[in-house]
Amino acid sequence: LIHHLSIGIKPDQLEFEGSVYYHIFVLRAYLIAAEMAERFGINLYAAEGEQGQSFKGMFDVLVLLANPQGELSALHDGPFKRVPFAREISEIFEIGLRKYQNPAYIHLLADAYRQLNRDSSRRGLEALVFGTGDGDMHTDNYKKLSVLLPDSGFACLNHPNNALSLLVDFGAHGGSHGHYDKLNIVLNHKSGSLAPELGVVPYGSDLRKGWFAETISHNTVTVGGKSQKPHEGIYKKFELSPEYSFIRVSTNDAYPNCIMDRYLLLTEELLIDWFEVALDEEQEMDWSFHVPGGISVNGNWIEDNSALGETNGYRHIQSISYTTGQPYVEQCDMVLTVDPKTAAPDQAAKVSMSTLLYPTSKLYKVKSPGISVDPSQRIDGAIHRQTAKKARFLTVFIDGEKPVNIKSLGNHSNGEIIQISTEEKNWSFVLNSSGIIKI
Ligand SMILES: [Zn+2]
Repeated sequence: LIHHLSIGIKPDQLEFEGSVYYHIFVLRAYLIAAEMAERFGINLYAAEGEQGQSFKGMFDVLVLLANPQGELSALHDGPFKRVPFAREISEIFEIGLRKYQNPAYIHLLADAYRQLNRDSSRRGLEALVFGTGDGDMHTDNYKKLSVLLPDSGFACLNHPNNALSLLVDFGAHGGSHGHYDKLNIVLNHKSGSLAPELGVVPYGSDLRKGWFAETISHNTVTVGGKSQKPHEGIYKKFELSPEYSFIRVSTNDAYPNCIMDRYLLLTEELLIDWFEVALDEEQEMDWSFHVPGGISVNGNWIEDNSALGETNGYRHIQSISYTTGQPYVEQCDMVLTVDPKTAAPDQAAKVSMSTLLYPTSKLYKVKSPGISVDPSQRIDGAIHRQTAKKARFLTVFIDGEKPVNIKSLGNHSNGEIIQISTEEKNWSFVLNSSGIIKI
């Protein structure tokens, strides 16, 4: 078991495939073994791998990865939501709470019970057999912090005053349970999910490899209509301060002769997503973003039913409409709705997403297979396509329906300067290889 912990779990305590589902699968097996060993007078609950991997660490890393609702993203292979999986989560966290007494586990336990019982009441076999205490599931003091898992290659950006938070995946492919999804982001709002990992359908379905593992089903960039290679990206900078969280993630191995950099800055008010792609020859580059709660657009959109591609998942995408870039740089605004299936009751929170369109840009609104619980419930997506040797995708998200105003002040000696403003406030940033720097 200690050997298994040493080779199967990364030093940051996540299972090596980077899949939350398989992480829990393995942790549950460890706990079953520990329960049996205890009957023979052997205590395995404090077992440690060669680099400090432990059962407690495996619980704690799930707390770090959970979104503000206590939900776990379906990273890499695994179901989006499924009752037997929620039972497994409640089982392991009842055991974890009893053995390790970390009150943060209550937040994830409450979400598992919400899935099982529709409210977070602590009812069921798992609570009866493994639970302890008075059943109180209060989670009011729960604060999500920004965190980096350097070995597994995930980071979460949170700010206590911003309703938006995100997770970015840049780490190892994840073996046979991996997805071609480097630099993918998962976006959450405090009242529910905005742009989730879609999960995976049962393995018999063609959609498993044909859609859910493909790059275009994720919120990242696809080049030349082909999925990325299985590979590992890196982070180049991760910076935390009381004002902001910032990460720069990069990869040179997704495609031949292609450099990708994603810079993500979360402040008290804004989320800035700056994605830069450089190729050695002109190709189509697609920045994609999928929103189960829906995307609304207005303005100059042209109805469309063209095919955006045939292979690598593209045949499942249906174009609805598009808008094109002008000879000058122009902003396009969209409104995203939080998935009502995840939102707190009475809330249909909206988030504004604004992106800069360049002369080579074509922005499509699309429909594609839905979350893996029921892919036939097709969902909205946005695909920003640029055909060039080099592309910049600059997108700004803000809570509420009112968009920000983005203005580029052009290139200066230390990078491009952009101004972002709302009716009340404005900010200036310089974009350069050190990051998105407030000036
Ligand atoms: Zn995925």
